[in-house]
Amino acid sequence: MTEETGTAKDTGRTDHTDVVVIGGGYAGVMAANRLTQRADVSVTLINPRSTFVERIRLHQLVAGTDDAVVAYDEVLGAGVRLVVDAVTRIDAGERSVTLAGGGTVGYDYLVYAVGSDSADRSVPGAAEFAHPVADLEEAEWLRAIVDALPAAAPVTVVGAGPTGIETAAELAEVGRTVTLVCGEALGPYLHPRGRREVTGRLAALGVRVLHGAGTKATAVTRDAVHLDDGRTVPSEVTIWTAGFGVPDLARRSGLSTDAAGRLRTDETLTSVDDVRIVAAGDAAAPSDLPLRMSCQAAGPLGAHAADTVLDRIAGRRPAPLSLGFGGQCISLGRRVGFFQYASRDDHAKWVHLTGRPGAKLKEFICTLTVKALAREARKPGSYTWVKYAGRRRLQRAERGTTLGTAERAAQAGR
Ligand SMILES: Cc1cc2nc3c(=O)[nH]c(=O)nc-3n(C[C@H](O)[C@H](O)[C@H](O)COP(=O)(O)OP(=O)(O)OC[C@H]3O[C@@H](n4cnc5c(N)ncnc54)[C@H](O)[C@@H]3O)c2cc1C
Repeated sequence: MTEETGTAKDTGRTDHTDVVVIGGGYAGVMAANRLTQRADVSVTLINPRSTFVERIRLHQLVAGTDDAVVAYDEVLGAGVRLVVDAVTRIDAGERSVTLAGGGTVGYDYLVYAVGSDSADRSVPGAAEFAHPVADLEEAEWLRAIVDALPAAAPVTVVGAGPTGIETAAELAEVGRTVTLVCGEALGPYLHPRGRREVTGRLAALGVRVLHGAGTKATAVTRDAVHLDDGRTVPSEVTIWTAGFGVPDLARRSGLSTDAAGRLRTDETLTSVDDVRIVAAGDAAAPSDLPLRMSCQAAGPLGAHAADTVLDRIAGRRPAPLSLGFGGQCISLGRRVGFFQYASRDDHAKWVHLTGRPGAKLKEFICTLTVKALAREARKPGSYTWVKYAGRRRLQRAERGTTLGTAERAAQAGR
């Protein structure tokens, strides 16, 4: 798509609003669908691929148990215009975005939902010899490499957050010889009881788990991972799952970001620089308060970002974010799953669900996530999520106010 799109701003129309959503993941699709509640709002979603990627199944793609893609027809409302391209720059002054394919698209409001990508692989040799699993192309590339290996060839997964645990378990279950290098504790988020449970299941699948002191990867070579206690782990394929990074589009566009590069917003998800830009999903950093990058948060954040835009269009004051967590669900292969219950403010509790019921719950959640997008496409505005006022208390404690930065700027006439 290389055209320049006239906006209400350009044409002088005051009865119509153009909203551009950058990024067609969980947050962006939710936001785009919800924005179609108003007939006088045109919604354009810009995404580099023509299919929706179920990122939460990418470890399954690597092991060959799912393709991790869904047609946009299934999850995107008929009223959303999909532009298959990537945004290379946001010009907040001009209210337009530049496309990699050429041309610009103008907006009245912008939803920034570019998600996350693989973490910085700064460990020597990691960028060259270790493969991430954070996006579709990386997972497809990795699958081809794994498929070409004999079953006995050693595979090493570096990083033991949920993505590393899921990837190690999925590959072990399909017969791969897997070592999981934790760096520190396995599943740092998990309650110690839950950690013991997950460790036991990984052992049953034959995964060799290296955790605790001395298990930080210090270098990766073509056929090994080197640890900080001097050990060498033979590795035909090394998979890097040590955290997520975020695209640097906001930073490159001169917008305020946190240290990770996420767009800094207030609690209404509005950019601290510009009342016309809101953020959602992994790429949003509301109030510099803790918020776990997750699919669990991305849907609610997408819906809340849309509500903020719709409120502004309607002349209402947008509400602060209210979002509660339920826990962390981790697949341990196809037959066993693990659900770590958590408090609304996202701290692991002692209680968990595991075994076959855990696997069923995990599959239910994955399916439900896509169904929620499809339902919002059919019935915009219908999506609801778990609310939690604790964020507001946290914010009050941190800042001494609940009034968002952008709201203050808007009230000051900016
Ligand atoms: C293997 C794996 C398993 C996971 N499992 C879970 C889980 O069980 N539970 C959970 O809560 N989370 C899980 N996650 C994390 C979850 O996938 C992310 O937190 C979630 O996808 C974030 O949603 P999002 O909409 O913010 O971003 P994304 O889903 O990453 O979507 C962002 C979209 O923006 C596009 N984009 C990026 N840059 C541009 C640009 N410049 N122009 C246009 N488009 C752009 C991207 O291509 C992408 O389509 C998992 C992640 C991985 C990798």
